[in-house]
Amino acid sequence: MKFQQVYAVVDSEYRVLWVGGEWDEFALSGGANGAISNKVLSTSVMSQIAGEDTRAATARMIDAVLKHRRTLRLEYRCDSPGMARKFLMTIQPMKEGRALMVHDLRDAWHFSPPLNRWHYDSAARDTKCSFCGNVRFDGDSDWTRCEEIGERHPTHVTYDICQPCLLAVDRAVEEVLDATDTVAPVEAAKLPR
Ligand SMILES: [Zn+2]
Repeated sequence: MKFQQVYAVVDSEYRVLWVGGEWDEFALSGGANGAISNKVLSTSVMSQIAGEDTRAATARMIDAVLKHRRTLRLEYRCDSPGMARKFLMTIQPMKEGRALMVHDLRDAWHFSPPLNRWHYDSAARDTKCSFCGNVRFDGDSDWTRCEEIGERHPTHVTYDICQPCLLAVDRAVEEVLDATDTVAPVEAAKLPR
């Protein structure tokens, strides 16, 4: 696994102040050419996130970290058509009302067969979960695991959050609120390069 980690520092208005790690490689492997680092600086991190509920969940997590000054962790999936990729996202408080977001690749395996390549389309009728990659086909009430979809993976999707992932976000936020020990803010000089 070549790609290991990406980092971004955001402020309380979700502006990207700094990115690091393998950000460009990550953005390009996801097909998001607009997301390469020199284009995202000082834009809103929300402009990189598709789906209103996904943006709202991300804002909730960042807000909780900034307000309670505690670290939040959430596992999620960010797959490519050929590869399932499991990440751990860590959001840590920093000085001056900023937060450090770290995306850490924990595991990856090949889809066999590969999924169809998909694109975000706000008018698409099929929905993909932003956090686990499962798909809710148009007309279905249930989500289908992306491992079981293969070549039936829709080519155009909107993004939403499935119920288990919504609960996982809730739990991650609650852990920030319930934590008893606070984490010292990260010093800018100690950021990984
Ligand atoms: Zn999900």
